[in-house]
Amino acid sequence: MLPYSEDWFTGWQPNMHASLFINIHSYITRYTKVRDIDAVIKSYQLYLEHIEVNCLQRILSFTRAWMLVRFVESKVLSVTPCVKCSGNFLVHSLDIKSNHVCGLCHVPSRAGKTKRPVQEVVEVQEVAVKEACAM
Ligand SMILES: [Zn+2]
Repeated sequence: MLPYSEDWFTGWQPNMHASLFINIHSYITRYTKVRDIDAVIKSYQLYLEHIEVNCLQRILSFTRAWMLVRFVESKVLSVTPCVKCSGNFLVHSLDIKSNHVCGLCHVPSRAGKTKRPVQEVVEVQEVAVKEACAM
């Protein structure tokens, strides 16, 4: 998989975070006048706030968030509702979407398993929050 392949966004954990981000971005561009890179920055700040409040690991970097918006605008990736929870999730545009079940309604058996130590995760999050505050 290439470093910035669209396939990265369809892995279980990246897909949950990328879907959260793209839903925030879609809300901001639909209901405010914020556009382009400003919309990506504001959406990313809200994504980081959500990650911090819920004590989650930051999975989506700002660069990937920017790439994600490019993939959606160029219709390589698109958003489709889950038939079970009605949440909107990222999929490949060429995938069959009529019966999509999201990764939260159908969690893979190895989902979220990581060898990364907890302390390292906390340090990464603290750096991410400091970066976001400096923007
Ligand atoms: Zn679902």
